[in-house]
Amino acid sequence: MAVFECPQPEQMLAPWPAFGGNHNPAGGAGSTDLSATCNGYVQGLEATRDSRDASFAMQPEVPEEPLSVGSLGHPIACRRPCVYMTKNAECQNGRACGFCHCQHPREVKLDRDQRAMLHKLPYGDFLEIISEVLEAKAAEAARPIVWEAVRMLEEEAKLAGISVQGHDLNAKALKRLKKRLAHLNVVSLLALANRRCQGSMSTELVQIAAELRFQAE
Ligand SMILES: [Zn+2]
Ligand SMILES: [Zn+2]
Repeated sequence: MAVFECPQPEQMLAPWPAFGGNHNPAGGAGSTDLSATCNGYVQGLEATRDSRDASFAMQPEVPEEPLSVGSLGHPIACRRPCVYMTKNAECQNGRACGFCHCQHPREVKLDRDQRAMLHKLPYGDFLEIISEVLEAKAAEAARPIVWEAVRMLEEEAKLAGISVQGHDLNAKALKRLKKRLAHLNVVSLLALANRRCQGSMSTELVQIAAELRFQAE
């Protein structure tokens, strides 16, 4: 059975088969053997290169654009997606960009009425709504500190008093508002809650957001 053998070092150093026979005065059968060895050697090199290319192909893909400062904590704690990356797939600010360079689903923003609605809601109801939306995200976020934030907001909401019937939001508008809020990531929701929180509550929310952004699990 013919088995390809790796050329021995002395064979590798042997001169390339003669062109026109000038360097191989012996000629004859020996020249055919050498030629076969060289062909085998070249094939061996090609096989090595192919397998090396294959192992390169197995490597995880490195993103072409480096992540930005705003991408820290993606997807639960990053900043809003960078408009330049979304539109042009490149951003001149590179790593220094304060917005997220990772892929995001299309951004859904609160409209003007919804922002006004959030602002006008009684404090307890406002916190209750944020905590409810945040709770739905807590399991997926897989960071225990998110549950802590949910509990904090719930307790604060109860202390302030929840008057779901008391405010003038109709059920439909409230449902739409919650649906929109669900598009915000965990840290954006904490930032939103923080706009109306005060004192130690505010400090704790800021700390939780920082931990989610800057500390890996
Ligand atoms: Zn992101
Ligand atoms: Zn950017």
